[in-house]
Amino acid sequence: MHIVSYSVWGDIVEKLRIYLRWSACLIFVFLFGSLIYGAFAAPAPQVSLASAEAAPLVIIDAGHGGEDGGASDNGLLEKDVNLSVALKLRDMLTAAGYRVKMTRDEDISLGQGDTVRARKIDDTKKRVEIADSGSCLISIHQNKFTDSRYSGAQIFYSPNAPESEKLAQCMRRSITGLLQPENKRELKKADGGIYLLNNVQKSAVIVECGFLSNKEEAQKLSDEEYRRQLAFAVMCGFLEYKGSEGNNAS
Ligand SMILES: [Zn+2]
Repeated sequence: MHIVSYSVWGDIVEKLRIYLRWSACLIFVFLFGSLIYGAFAAPAPQVSLASAEAAPLVIIDAGHGGEDGGASDNGLLEKDVNLSVALKLRDMLTAAGYRVKMTRDEDISLGQGDTVRARKIDDTKKRVEIADSGSCLISIHQNKFTDSRYSGAQIFYSPNAPESEKLAQCMRRSITGLLQPENKRELKKADGGIYLLNNVQKSAVIVECGFLSNKEEAQKLSDEEYRRQLAFAVMCGFLEYKGSEGNNAS
């Protein structure tokens, strides 16, 4: 009886030892794994990639086009730079899962009519129409000023949809943070002179990427790699804006 009892206890102690050994192993693996994960896992970025089912439609507007070249200086024509940056932005946003519609994806004017003025008015109205068919508008332009000292991006936002200012803030933060840390230019609410932003009802911004009238900036704007960086900065601004939508009523 004594012997049997000893053997049963011996069994239990042995099983307990095995159990404890395995538990210790599991705890070690868990703790070690947590350490590794904590050391290498990057914090989730505050951006929002779109899911295919509910991807919002983003309208990208390449300013000017066709007979309307926009500003020109230092060997650059605004419509060409606008289209080049806009097409890169389209590809990046598409890769991020958004649906994208361009107001133009080639060198054309959208306007019809008998005079240049009539075609220009019709062109702008059509851009407004396209912009309102999406969830928001990003319009790409370039600046020009008589004083060639000025450089750097300038962002205008629509006075109609309140979240336009938020979108503009995100764009500004992204462009200055990634490309132009010295740029102190403030955002501007569009005044009556900017027909597109004054008539579109969706959240909308115009990104004037830089000044063609500034020699150094014009040089950069003629470079494909810099245009890609601009498109990337604009996309990051947009993704930050979408990422903040859940936190704010925007
Ligand atoms: Zn322009």
